[in-house]
Amino acid sequence: MADYDVIVVGGGPAGAMAAWRLALNGAKTLLVERQSLPRHKTCGGGVPMSAANLLEMQKITDLAPDSFVELTVKHLMCTFNFANEYLLPVNAEGRDEAGIWMVQRSSFDHALVKRAAAAGAEVRDATRLMALDAEDHDHPQITLSYNGDHETHSARFIIGADGANGVVARLAGIRTTRSVAIAAEAEVPIDWNSVSSKVRKDVIHLEFGDVPGGYSWLFPKGNHINAGAGLFSELAPNHTSPHLTKVLLQNCIMKYLDHAGIPYERDSLRYHFHPLPLWNGKHSLQNRRGSVLLAGDAAGLVNPIFGDGILHALRSGDIAARCIVGGTATNYTREINTLYQSNFDSAQRMARLFYRWPEISYNLLVPRPGAGQIAMRLLSGEAPFTGMTRRMLRRISSSVASTRKGKYDRANH
Ligand SMILES: Cc1cc2nc3c(=O)[nH]c(=O)nc-3n(C[C@H](O)[C@H](O)[C@H](O)COP(=O)(O)OP(=O)(O)OC[C@H]3O[C@@H](n4cnc5c(N)ncnc54)[C@H](O)[C@@H]3O)c2cc1C
Repeated sequence: MADYDVIVVGGGPAGAMAAWRLALNGAKTLLVERQSLPRHKTCGGGVPMSAANLLEMQKITDLAPDSFVELTVKHLMCTFNFANEYLLPVNAEGRDEAGIWMVQRSSFDHALVKRAAAAGAEVRDATRLMALDAEDHDHPQITLSYNGDHETHSARFIIGADGANGVVARLAGIRTTRSVAIAAEAEVPIDWNSVSSKVRKDVIHLEFGDVPGGYSWLFPKGNHINAGAGLFSELAPNHTSPHLTKVLLQNCIMKYLDHAGIPYERDSLRYHFHPLPLWNGKHSLQNRRGSVLLAGDAAGLVNPIFGDGILHALRSGDIAARCIVGGTATNYTREINTLYQSNFDSAQRMARLFYRWPEISYNLLVPRPGAGQIAMRLLSGEAPFTGMTRRMLRRISSSVASTRKGKYDRANH
């Protein structure tokens, strides 16, 4: 008999969601988190409000938005090379249902872990998974390290929700070769009364021309701005050198702050860098026996065009837990791929186009009426990328062709 029904590795959104769902359904669940909680997670902390549905916040009222939402964003301010500015509302005129929560990941993730504990999950932080043997025993065995001591436990199932740098996939022999992007963020203290009127508590700023193969952002938070930049495409020129990539991202962040007129002390900015395992096609997300399941970043469920992963971490953690309690764990990979494959494959095609031809793509997409609402619906998972990609491909291809023809004609005159 196993010590636990399920051991969940990782206390981010994927792991916390899985542990909550399992405990709610009476599964004997252990959640282990390597760091002491609450912990910092390198992130912009933008969460589409549609996450409330996944978290069943209307039905089960133990998770109040006030406990983790610092601000709610209703507009996207987009620029290309700090010009060509568009302020896009995320709701149609007269409506107000959609928005993006701005959260501090330390509080958000901790609230989710505490919720899992309140539902009955045993939570152990500052506890690291060191080893996993999922083949040689009836049940997977794991070795945990806490304060230098080691202990071994068994479980009927393991959920690997251990993020982009996780080890569960490798230890369980699950091959996941994702395209790894890199992103950086820094928190800049802000006095909201002394910044330009364009820097608002309900506006996200997105700059698409400055980072080659990616974008930079300014996300408003209670007492600071989360300033960040990410390279989302393998087409990015500096992709092969981690050092150059880091320098490039830092420079883009500072340039954005300068353009927005946000004061900061260059030497006191503390940058956090973290990889993003972008979706690049379907993979198996469980071991051969079906006893180890991957969720969230560990499963590579990061949207390849926007780089968002919180919603997908919550959703995949939920599905992993539901498959286990429903006795259908062997279907897990199929369920995730059915949900994500065509949509994220399309998003990946769109990303390749967008980041390869950023100016043309920006000018075709951003000024369109309703662009903010479309972006919001894509981000919330309410509209699929599928279908849009084909239309966009046609438009961009014809625009690229006419730009090339224009250059050719000019060169030959
Ligand atoms: C700069 C940046 C900005 C981003 N901005 C956004 C955004 O605005 N919106 C959005 O939706 N997404 C964003 N993302 C992506 C988002 O952060 C991730 O997709 C999300 O955190 C995935 O959640 P997760 O639960 O899968 O993994 P994580 O949140 O990474 O959690 C994994 C946990 O596992 C723990 N762990 C790892 N190894 C072990 C071990 N051996 N034993 C025990 N515990 C272990 C880690 O300590 C960690 O707490 C951003 C990412 C980056 C890098």
